[in-house]
Amino acid sequence: MTSFKLQRFWPRNGVDRLAFGFTMTELFVEGCFEMFIIIPKLYPEMCMAKLCHMLFGTFLFVNTITNFFYAMGIDVTSGSTVLPSVLKPGWKYCHTCMHNAPPRAVHCWSCECCVLKRDHHCIFTGRCIGHKNLRFYLLAVGYLCVGALYANYLNMDYAMEILVENFNWKVFIAMAAPLVGWTLGLTESMSFFVSFQCGTCMIASFMFTGLFLFHLHLILRGQTTHEWRNGHERVHDLGWKRNLQEALGTRWYLVWISPLIPSPLPGDGIYFRRRDGMMYENVKDL
Ligand SMILES: [Zn+2]
Ligand SMILES: [Zn+2]
Repeated sequence: MTSFKLQRFWPRNGVDRLAFGFTMTELFVEGCFEMFIIIPKLYPEMCMAKLCHMLFGTFLFVNTITNFFYAMGIDVTSGSTVLPSVLKPGWKYCHTCMHNAPPRAVHCWSCECCVLKRDHHCIFTGRCIGHKNLRFYLLAVGYLCVGALYANYLNMDYAMEILVENFNWKVFIAMAAPLVGWTLGLTESMSFFVSFQCGTCMIASFMFTGLFLFHLHLILRGQTTHEWRNGHERVHDLGWKRNLQEALGTRWYLVWISPLIPSPLPGDGIYFRRRDGMMYENVKDL
C-alpha cells in the first residue's frame, strides 16, 4: 500500500473550519435522524427489511466518514522527496516555498504549500485535493451523493405525509424554508428539525450528484479542475482506464469497498506520462 504521511488535521482558516464543522455536525445528525427516527417509523418491528436498511445505512455512513478523513489526513505535498535544484522543462519556481515545483503542482494560499497535481482547495475538508487524496475525495463525494439520494427515498413517506395529508401554508413554509418558519414561530422545534433534515437531504442530493459527475468526468479526461478552468490542453489524457488508475490507483474497481483497500497510484505526482509518450525531461530534446 502507498505509504502516506499524515498532515495537520484541523483546517487552517475560519471559513474552512465553519464548513468542516457544519458538514460533520450535519452528517452525524442526519445519520442519527435516519437510524433512530425514520427507519423505526417505517418498520416499528424488527424484520429483515429493517435490518437491511440499518446495515446499508451504516455502510454508507462509515464509508463517507472514513473517506472524508483520509482525504483530510494525507499529506498532499512532495513531503521528504528531494526536488531538483535545476529548473526542468515544465517545472516552475515557487517563490513562497522556495523550491522548484513539478508540472501540475500549484501553490495553495490557504494550505500555504505547493500541492502535487493540485485539483482544487476544498473548504469542507479544509485542504487541497491533489494527486495523493483525489481517490478519497471522489469516494467521499460519491457516498454523500448515494447517501443523500437514499435518505430522500427513506424520507419520502414522511415528507409526503406532512405535505399531502396535513397540508397547509404553514407546513409549506416549514418544508421550503424551515429556518423562516421556525423564526416566525410557524413551526414547532420538532417540525422544524424534520423539515430541515428533509430539505437538506434534497439539496444535498442535487449538489453532490452534480459534484461527483463533474469530478468523475474530469478524471476520465485526465484533467484536474485547475487545468480545466484554465483551458490547458489535455496532454495527460492516457485513455479512460489509465486515467482512472492515475486518480484511483491500480485497483480502481475495488476502492468503493473501503478506503482501507490498497490501491497504489502508478505515478509519484512529480513525474507524469504525457499523451505523446514523452516525459517532461524529454520534451527539451524534441
Ligand atoms: Zn509553493
Ligand atoms: Zn489548499
